[in-house]
Amino acid sequence: MDTCLFCQIANQERPGKMVYEDEQAVAFEDINPKAPIHILIVPRQHLATILDATQADDRLLGHLLLVANRIAKQIGIAERGFRLVINCNSEGGQAVYHLHLHLLGGRPLSWHPA
Ligand code: 5GP
Ligand code: ZN
Repeated sequence: MDTCLFCQIANQERPGKMVYEDEQAVAFEDINPKAPIHILIVPRQHLATILDATQADDRLLGHLLLVANRIAKQIGIAERGFRLVINCNSEGGQAVYHLHLHLLGGRPLSWHPA
């Protein structure tokens, strides 16, 4: 049994509302959505933060962005627009230490990152 929350969801050891799965990544709905669309895009490989990615992960990182691209088109928010966010460490607001992209959309998003 994995101890990491997002490893558990990716491995179906814990429930998650999956919206996308492939060999390298999964995507599921955020349990506490901050917008009408709030999907987390998560690599199957456990990397705690974006800082743990190395040159060896460059294809994986590109893949995560392309998964976001695909999901945005699939769920019909591509034209209207959306936001991708990666939080890193405590001052970046990271709560779950398994790398993930937030895909946010479904309403106009303001820009108050601070
Ligand atoms: P972070 O703050 O690490 O960038 O984002 C973590 C996100 O994971 C938060 O938006 C939070 O709502 C979400 N989250 C935390 N626990 C769970 C869970 O058990 N299931 C799902 N689907 N999302 C979770
Ligand atoms: Zn993990």
